Amino acid sequence: AQNSDATPKSEENLRSPICCIMGHVDAGKTKLLDCIRETNVQEGEAGGITQQIGATYFPAENILERTKELKADAKLKVPGLLVIDTPGHESFTNLRSRGSGLCDIAILVVDIMDGLKPQTIESLNLLKMRNTKFIVALNKVDRIYDWKSNPNAPIRNAIKQQSKNAQSHFNMRLTNVITQFKEQGLNTELYYENRDMGETCSIVPTSAITGEGIPDLLLLLVKWTEKTMVEKLTYSNEVQCTVLEVKVVEGHGTTIDVVLVNGVLHEGDQIVVCGMQGPIITTIRALLTPHPMKELRVKGNYLHHKEIKAAQSIKITAQGLEHAIVGTGLYVVGHHNDLEDTKESAMEDMKSDLINIGCI
Ligand code: GDP
Repeated sequence: AQNSDATPKSEENLRSPICCIMGHVDAGKTKLLDCIRETNVQEGEAGGITQQIGATYFPAENILERTKELKADAKLKVPGLLVIDTPGHESFTNLRSRGSGLCDIAILVVDIMDGLKPQTIESLNLLKMRNTKFIVALNKVDRIYDWKSNPNAPIRNAIKQQSKNAQSHFNMRLTNVITQFKEQGLNTELYYENRDMGETCSIVPTSAITGEGIPDLLLLLVKWTEKTMVEKLTYSNEVQCTVLEVKVVEGHGTTIDVVLVNGVLHEGDQIVVCGMQGPIITTIRALLTPHPMKELRVKGNYLHHKEIKAAQSIKITAQGLEHAIVGTGLYVVGHHNDLEDTKESAMEDMKSDLINIGCI
């Protein structure tokens, strides 16, 4: 039974899962994201990759194209995958914690040559605290002694084609990392040997330089979320939205970059955002995303949308956003949400945010 407010709860109505990438500096987080993007971009003008603000959206067709060697199903249940672009070297603990709080799933990147580092353990603890499921990308396999690259190959094919020597080096490094995780109280296993992803965390060996293992990583992310997170990923009309950045953009004034986790936003919606001097009540002037296929840092030329459905990342222009606070929620005033209640909800976020930063 449906009414005008309820959306049918079924596998037919899933939103894209949101994924963040964590791990120590230099593990290859940025490169991994670049690798997925570039390969997609190179695969054709019409590939449809949309580089969003603060996150990259990978449409399902794109993921299927990348993973066809793995003989995936012809169809995915989710419309795509939204990957949050975590700030790289400058990332602060509080930003990372916000990043992981938004996410349905995470990739924890570990350099196969270095193993676990203090920052890996910090990320691990954050993921545990948030109860966020994750997959380990054991990155830089191309640096294994005597490794022969098979660009963009599924990882099992790539490993099979290595010399005995390279295989034994790989196994040694892998065992080492599995032991290190064990010391942190975490069971891990190569993903294709893992029979119980609920109990044991999967490891996907990858190379962000050669693209080996990237198909495996993408497919596992999507398949695992589709299988185990149906309820969480069921699209709902209730807006759930987080402010990631507050930025001045030429010609647009102060804008906010948000991640819309659920629900839909419209041009002209009255919204409330948590501000340094109290709640900011304003109206969405424009909902913007970059043009598909454009470089992330290309200036200007945003696409305007009348409405945008979750999950997506969006740049919002509106008046009075100067003092908006990063990491807090965006609320829509509607026929069901009274303005006063909405203002209160918005300011509640400020408190929880401070606690959040304080406890890390
Ligand atoms: P981040 O700090 O985790 O974002 O790491 P980066 O993506 O900036 O990567 C750090 C360094 O490792 C850069 O010089 C990358 O080119 C290099 N790198 C990243 N991934 C790989 C990989 O899979 N193989 C090799 N050989 N180098 C990599």
